[in-house]
Amino acid sequence: MEKQVGFMKALKCRECAREYPLAATHVCEFDFGPLEVVYDYARIGSSITREKIMSRPQTMWRYRELLPIANEPTVGFQVGYTPLVKATRLAKKLGLRELWIKNDTVNYPTLSFKDRVVSVALSRARELGFTTVACASTGNLANSVAANAASAGLKSYVFIPADLEQGKVINSLVYGANVIGIRGHYDEVNRLCAEIAGKFGWAFVNVNMRPYYAEGSKSMGFEIMEQLGWQIPQHTVVCMASGSLLTKIHKSYQEFSKLGLVKDASYKVHGAQATGCSPISTAQKAGLDFFKPVKPDTIAKSLAIGTPADGFYALKVMKETGAASDDVTDDEIREGIRLLAECEGIFAETAGGVTVGVAKKLVASGKIPANESVVLCITGHGLKTLDAVVGHVGRPREIRPSLREFEALLDAEAKSPIVS
Ligand SMILES: *Cc1c(COP(=O)(O)O)cnc(C)c1O
Repeated sequence: MEKQVGFMKALKCRECAREYPLAATHVCEFDFGPLEVVYDYARIGSSITREKIMSRPQTMWRYRELLPIANEPTVGFQVGYTPLVKATRLAKKLGLRELWIKNDTVNYPTLSFKDRVVSVALSRARELGFTTVACASTGNLANSVAANAASAGLKSYVFIPADLEQGKVINSLVYGANVIGIRGHYDEVNRLCAEIAGKFGWAFVNVNMRPYYAEGSKSMGFEIMEQLGWQIPQHTVVCMASGSLLTKIHKSYQEFSKLGLVKDASYKVHGAQATGCSPISTAQKAGLDFFKPVKPDTIAKSLAIGTPADGFYALKVMKETGAASDDVTDDEIREGIRLLAECEGIFAETAGGVTVGVAKKLVASGKIPANESVVLCITGHGLKTLDAVVGHVGRPREIRPSLREFEALLDAEAKSPIVS
């Protein structure tokens, strides 16, 4: 028995606490509450130590006891342990003393934080005997399922809104995945996928595999604490689509505290959204416990979920930790992308622009005090969302291959500088 469940005990309804076997299932039959993995923390506590973690390879699997697979991972061995960058220049610009960037733009293999959740979901799907995997995606998840399924020899179907950025579409097609574009919003894609999952018996990473999948996000928080020298940052800013990542960063901080791997400390996990799709931040700012669904209209397509599955729990985490949230316009998102690129040499996708833009607002309003430690979770690479910045970052100055022309160009610009 133990061999089949590892350090997990059961799945449990977040609402009524009824327990379920560790199968491919995600909602409670009684109240439709979401199911969550329950662990045997006593056993984990006697297995895991800082020294043991540090002796393992630098991937997300170094926190293996706290990830929901029974045996060793079979998909995505190299995922995670992305750099935590001390952002001195951006800190100065925003008026902060201590700022860090958790840089998942360079996650392996598809340049977004989704590789974390997918390697867990696919490893678990294999344990449960699935050979076809699938997802409903706003782009990055499709990329990661397609790539990881290819390398694991699994068949994959990825469902996306038909109007996604070209970079995201090509990044799924190239791996030979079955890419299905749906003429509709993500929420409609998701609804269709719930029906397909029931009928075809595939492992949908974010539908029937969601309890396992979502746990993968905790690894981002585990890494942040270890890379900060086994400490919880006072402020973490996280962009929200379904709101899952935010809730799991919180859970990671709780688990490390409970296991004594970090000192118990107070912290806030702030949520960031795009104004064109801000059901969670709008509810948070109004002091509400529930969000109102919206129809998305934003360049931050990876965050464009109008009916966020974990919105209710994200609001709860922000309330419990005394955190704030905010949202930013398309122009502020582009400004955030440029600010991060120009100060730190990191090119983030639109979601990263959302995180930087909202952090700037929270510092300006005093919700993040200037002298406290701050981590920004930057979740995806900018080369995948070029459509959003084309025409907004200036143009190369063109000349013939002549030294004279180059000197003339410098002279002209010295007299009337080009502001790009
Ligand atoms: C999916 C995604 C998120 C957030 O996802 P949640 O559904 O809130 O967990 C953040 N950034 C990027 C780039 C994403 O693709």
